[in-house]
Amino acid sequence: MMPQNTGKIFLKSLFDFEENKKIFTSFLSDDINTIKEAVEFISKYLRDPKEKRSWHRINAKLLPIVLIFLKGISEPVLSNRIMIHFRRVAEEEGQRMNMEDLESALNSLGLEAELDANDDLISVSLKDYVSIAGKISGSTYHLIYQDLRSGRVFLDKDHALKVLREHFYSRMRLYYEKIPLEEVISLTKSYSVDMEKIKDIYTKTLGKIDFGFGAVDSDKFPPCIREYIRQVSDGVNIPHLARLTLVSFLRAVGMPNEKIMEIFRTAPDFNESITEYQVNHITGKTSGTKYSPPKCETLQSNHLCYKGDDALCAQEWMKHPLTYYRTKKRESLKKRS
Ligand code: SF4
Repeated sequence: MMPQNTGKIFLKSLFDFEENKKIFTSFLSDDINTIKEAVEFISKYLRDPKEKRSWHRINAKLLPIVLIFLKGISEPVLSNRIMIHFRRVAEEEGQRMNMEDLESALNSLGLEAELDANDDLISVSLKDYVSIAGKISGSTYHLIYQDLRSGRVFLDKDHALKVLREHFYSRMRLYYEKIPLEEVISLTKSYSVDMEKIKDIYTKTLGKIDFGFGAVDSDKFPPCIREYIRQVSDGVNIPHLARLTLVSFLRAVGMPNEKIMEIFRTAPDFNESITEYQVNHITGKTSGTKYSPPKCETLQSNHLCYKGDDALCAQEWMKHPLTYYRTKKRESLKKRS
């Protein structure tokens, strides 16, 4: 049974940094175990990311604290993965709710949900539905197939859960993006050693994919590739050219197709056979043509360059994402020797 208030605490507690800062500070003096538990939560994920099911029933007050630590650790891929984990937890928690609790959970996320007890349906405003439905994959969720009455969309439980999941995830991401890093650094000062340890384990494990003849270092990927991975993990349906660039880049740096599939597997509503077909096609396994990643110029003209203020991308000679990767690899080899 879903803990009576957990759903609300779980959802509500996440999105107010000022409030969470107070909670964090009070934990430092009165409930240090919760802080330790948050650090342990991240470490446990790193040690055993596949064993998510066994530790998904987590303490609700832990979540904002975990997000604060993740911000401080500043490893975007790790943060994404854990947030996707929370997204799944939100859906699982929702599954255990009755319709009344589900209505209340949706409301606690800021959606003006209303329960229609006669039909056992929950309605949300058309505006809210349209903004959320685009993130749910599957044509069943298109507006045209919905039960629309007087400006409201009526949802059965399964559908309401998807709305809960996506809205929760968007709010969590927004909250995470807005957490001020400087404040987190000062707030978590006494945990800097633990955070460094986590960072270190991350770079040696999830941050690096070893495929037997060298290593693919994701921390050496150019910003565009990192951004595509981030978006895929966020469940964004990335444009065709970005997908082609991502897959062909990963193949070019030596990643086998199964590992490339793993990246797409983190995406919500991942479709194994479609992804397998696309990956095998781009990498030449089924098409006979190995596609190469496009040049920076092409990506830039298609608004798919995310160089920001990256110093290497700013070099006049930086013309290709693979040049970026090779340069970074060379630099790190030089440092080691
Ligand atoms: S400059 Fe090139 S390598 Fe750098 S982010 Fe843009 S497209 Fe990618």
